[in-house]
Amino acid sequence: MIKKKMKKKATISKEGLPSADVSAESQFDRAANILKVDDDLKNLMKVPKRIIQLEFPVRMDDGKLTMFKGYRVQHSNIRGPYKGGLRYHPDVSMNDVKALAFWMTWKCAVVNIPFGGAKGGVVCDPKKLSSGELQRITRRFTKELSENIGPDIDIPAPDVNTNAQVMAWVLDTYSVHHNRSAYAVVTGKPVELGGSVGRASATGRGGFFVLQEAIATGHVKGVSDIKEATIAVQGFGNVGSYFALNAYDAGAKIVAISQVEGGIYNPAGLNPHEVLDHIKKKGTILGFKGATSITNEQLLLCKCNILVPAAMENQIRGRIARKIKAKTVLELANGPTTPKAHQILLSRGIFLIPDILANAGGVTVSYFEWVQNLNHDIWTEEEVDTKLHRRMKDAYNDVAKAARDYKVDMRTAAYIVAIARVAEAIKLRGIYP
Ligand code: GLU
Repeated sequence: MIKKKMKKKATISKEGLPSADVSAESQFDRAANILKVDDDLKNLMKVPKRIIQLEFPVRMDDGKLTMFKGYRVQHSNIRGPYKGGLRYHPDVSMNDVKALAFWMTWKCAVVNIPFGGAKGGVVCDPKKLSSGELQRITRRFTKELSENIGPDIDIPAPDVNTNAQVMAWVLDTYSVHHNRSAYAVVTGKPVELGGSVGRASATGRGGFFVLQEAIATGHVKGVSDIKEATIAVQGFGNVGSYFALNAYDAGAKIVAISQVEGGIYNPAGLNPHEVLDHIKKKGTILGFKGATSITNEQLLLCKCNILVPAAMENQIRGRIARKIKAKTVLELANGPTTPKAHQILLSRGIFLIPDILANAGGVTVSYFEWVQNLNHDIWTEEEVDTKLHRRMKDAYNDVAKAARDYKVDMRTAAYIVAIARVAEAIKLRGIYP
């Protein structure tokens, strides 16, 4: 009884949703059980190797000293250095960072790049911070972490509300602290500072390649060519916007786009280039000419072939999953679908391409950036794009094959591919059995 009570408290958030770590664990367990992974190995693969929690002081513009909370969870370095983004958001919590780090391990394994998984976060609201404050937060956090990150230890990258500029500050702080220039300590840097061309657009472009492959292999119901696709995109940040631009330029119809404040809908199609211009001018997506205003929930339920959640976790919940009209869901956010909603989507015959596959383009080009830095090399846009295309296509087909072989959905299949790779590395290292 006591155990039951404790479990409930630890796993249900204040909105009554499962916290991300619970979603992550249930996804992992399903695949691990199919692979007949025993409990000891399961535990070894699940538990994060190192958890760092910091409270650090930052001088604000008004002269006051404010304490900030920061996390870095290093989940696994079995297949290579820890790898994963750094997110700045008021809702960052230890449980979420743990789940996000866990997902990175499986994501890197799905696309078969030599990294483990990590994630970091600082509890803050970048919208309310000046550039100077953001820089001081980043520098202090990096300094506190500087013994735990490094080109062959743990390599941060952009995530929600962080960008190339933030990565440049991480690079500079680390370099000063260690008295050496170490471009490979962080990825997603500005191109002028060792960043890779094509990194900023990589997650959206990788998702587009995955969708193209899904269409080419006949998995997207009612769509045999990208030009027949009608798409709704939730979230128009780095990931959602590049995905929408890629899909639109290839001939797809983007019928709905939303941001935190709400969305816009036009069944005749929206031009995402113009939507971006509108946001730049007005500071909001709302009021875009010729479109109807909709809520985020209406976006998820609108009439389209392909729904692309590209915002935050837990957006597709049970109630919504029952009413979604799209026949395909491409998860570009991390963890956008709750386990219950996933089951409902499956029972309704909706084809779901899971986050750890669909949004792995970002970390794939991070890997390319790291390789270029270590080799003091600079690749062309064409090289990056060709290599990204090949990796995403191969990963999609590996997962689709596992789905066929094990007769499971694509999420379970992606975990099967990833867990098998990590388990093999554990075995070869002689850690287990
Ligand atoms: N934050 C991105 C993700 O969730 C990229 C991580 C990286 O490049 O290391 O996949």
